[in-house]
Amino acid sequence: MRFTEFNFSPEVLEGIEASNYENATPVQEQVIPPIMAGKDVIASAQTGTGKTAAFLLPVMNHLLNNHVDGQVGALIIVPTRELAIQISQHIEGLSYFTHLSSIAIYGGNDAQNFVAEKKALQMGADIIVCTPGRMIAHLNMGYVNMKGLQFLILDEADRMLDMGFQDDINKIIKTLPAKRQNLLFSATMPPKIRQLARQILHEPVEINIAISKPPEKIIQKAYVVYEPQKMPLIKKLLREIPYKNALIFCSRKQTVKEVRRELKQAGFIIEEIHSDLEQSQRESVLGAFASGRIPLMVATDILSRGIDIDTIDLVINWDVPGDGEDYVHRIGRTARAEADGAAFTLIGDKEQGKFAAIERLLEKEVEKAQVPAELGETPEYNPRARNHQGQHGDRRGGHPKKKFFKNGPGRR
Ligand code: AMP
Repeated sequence: MRFTEFNFSPEVLEGIEASNYENATPVQEQVIPPIMAGKDVIASAQTGTGKTAAFLLPVMNHLLNNHVDGQVGALIIVPTRELAIQISQHIEGLSYFTHLSSIAIYGGNDAQNFVAEKKALQMGADIIVCTPGRMIAHLNMGYVNMKGLQFLILDEADRMLDMGFQDDINKIIKTLPAKRQNLLFSATMPPKIRQLARQILHEPVEINIAISKPPEKIIQKAYVVYEPQKMPLIKKLLREIPYKNALIFCSRKQTVKEVRRELKQAGFIIEEIHSDLEQSQRESVLGAFASGRIPLMVATDILSRGIDIDTIDLVINWDVPGDGEDYVHRIGRTARAEADGAAFTLIGDKEQGKFAAIERLLEKEVEKAQVPAELGETPEYNPRARNHQGQHGDRRGGHPKKKFFKNGPGRR
């Protein structure tokens, strides 16, 4: 479906064209019409599906024709600063040819930003993107004016509840006018999200796009190893696979630091990102990564959702993530939009059960790649037996004659 079929204002269409979007993605096709018809919407859609533009475009289009001076038009609440920044960049791109104003309100930045945020919350802005904590800080000061609010959008609602933002969200909603249009986006739909939806939404149209499965075009492989084999394997992978931007995920920030230190010592140009960094440091590291100055980054799951850098063509999971959704989100950082990508997971010998659970969720067995023979013996992938018997069933590592990554991502 082409964007011209949606009845958008010419300025909005210009922004779409400048963003090089040709056809609407499936989520956009399904979500845009009910939003334009004034309905509340609850949609399960993963990042990478084009969900941000799916709500931004109709909201922008409406506000263009229904702008009210001195009022906030739309409030988008998101779980993380990174996502707030990313959505505000999306708004800037798509609203370039309009007169709509917008601002991102999130913690960890300087006093000057606080003043600009206060001004927007007092004097109005068409679209505000905020993280819950920072918004509460402003609300507590007593000057926030939400009287004219037309849209409330909760993005990555499941993530927000997981992060414990339910009370903050409720507090923010109490300050909004009762008559407004509500949009709720969530990667998953656990019962607590349904509960939240019942509280907030009015006769919503329900749209299910999320299949909780990664895009088919991501080449997925897993390496079954003993823990001490992970570092030599990752070095080998990073030396042998050509990549533009590679992202390594670790579940713990201590591991992030250790992995980065060791890879740096081995000569890789690499940075790390996790919650110990100041907001400004995080932004500068992300900027350096996005621009290609730093080709390699190690991160905690702080980056596993929402971050959208087109040039990431390789994701390596240092460890198996906690659940299937996290796996899908981590590997979804690659192969964004039209690009291709590969995602490799290192399965330590104690992580086999966790990985098997992820495979069940994906309804797919991820290919177990050959570990190079020089790394020695590797465990057998036998999660069931392991659960019952412990550490059995070793086998020889990779076949020495078999070429590494025969059909792997080197072709891209
Ligand atoms: P999202 O799911 O909102 O994180 O979007 C994922 C990526 O798809 C972003 O880089 C968007 O700019 C891009 N995108 C969104 N809509 C379209 C579209 N209709 N055509 C091509 N790319 C799109």
